[in-house]
Amino acid sequence: MKITIVAGARPNFIKIAPIIRAIEQKQQEGIPLSYRLVHTGQHYDKNLSDTFFEELNIPKPDANLEVKSGSQSVQTANIMVAFEQELLENPTDMVLVVGDVNSTMACALVAKKMNLKVTHVEAGIRSGDMTMPEEINRIVTDSITDYFFTTSPLATENLIRYGAQPDAVHFVGNVMIDTLYQNQHRFQRPLFWEDFALEKGNYIVLTLHRPANVDEEDSLLHLLQGIDALAQGKKIIFPIHPRTKAILGERQLDTQNIVFIEPQGYLNFMYLVAHSFAVITDSGGISEETTVLGIPCFTLRNNTERPETITIGTNHLVGTQVEKLVETYTSFLQNGMKKAGIPELWDGKASERIVDILWQKRN
Ligand code: UDP
Repeated sequence: MKITIVAGARPNFIKIAPIIRAIEQKQQEGIPLSYRLVHTGQHYDKNLSDTFFEELNIPKPDANLEVKSGSQSVQTANIMVAFEQELLENPTDMVLVVGDVNSTMACALVAKKMNLKVTHVEAGIRSGDMTMPEEINRIVTDSITDYFFTTSPLATENLIRYGAQPDAVHFVGNVMIDTLYQNQHRFQRPLFWEDFALEKGNYIVLTLHRPANVDEEDSLLHLLQGIDALAQGKKIIFPIHPRTKAILGERQLDTQNIVFIEPQGYLNFMYLVAHSFAVITDSGGISEETTVLGIPCFTLRNNTERPETITIGTNHLVGTQVEKLVETYTSFLQNGMKKAGIPELWDGKASERIVDILWQKRN
């Protein structure tokens, strides 16, 4: 059986790494399972793409569609045109997509229209927020998926409520957490650690890239000033996403505590998170990682498609107003961290389960 695996953006690379490793293990057992890796080129900066391939030992892609940036529609359309050609030239039995980026939806659509089986890893999660491009990508992808792999019982329930056949939906755990466990012993202290006099447990990590937080310059500045003030002398390490950087431009900000750095590779970034006092972010994936690492997380969004990071994990949903962040953070300083655990099946074995199931279902 031949599977075409699609990856386009930073979180995708982190999710496909353990799936490829699980396929390669099957191959070593003599099972005739092969894959072709297609990079759509949605993220192409070295520090959002190549670094992850190197650090996570992901094989060089068999094809790179090099679509690069564009509006939502231009990017989606360009991926579709290029991926159709890719599939015509390289026939396959199944297309596997992960997550919720434009590459996920675009390639699932192309595959389904070519009558190929579609597998979606991280299916069924929903924020209910149709202003998020990712939510549209999730809904469209899941409406044409044949094999669904979910990270939570709630995601499974969502899919069945929307009409998926129960035997097509498999709750397997979280591939992003597979990568975390597989690489935890390799997390690497960044070279700048001493330059900024960082100490374990005494700094905050900040990431921001959602349009709702970063696309409007004045509100982004207000948010950053509020976060800077809340730190009370703790350094705030801020690997700045290209989208956010483009809004801020060359502007010099009058902040005392925020340390602006380039987006980090996985091993440095996860070292920073694992040893931080707390994380402030608008990322979904990072709220999963902090949950597993037991690091307090404050999510600057009004909703989340990953509610288990709040009900079970260390995440606090604080909205997009800095005042609410300050209130929640202050209460955390006074009351300490909430009691937290690790969601069911987030045990590092999700990818093995996925590959086992796909092999069983090969006909
Ligand atoms: N990440 C990283 N370096 C950074 C910021 C994030 O390696 O400078 C990793 C992070 O650990 C997580 C993933 O990138 O695994 C999340 O990506 P992003 O926030 O872009 O996507 P989202 O989770 O919002 O879909």
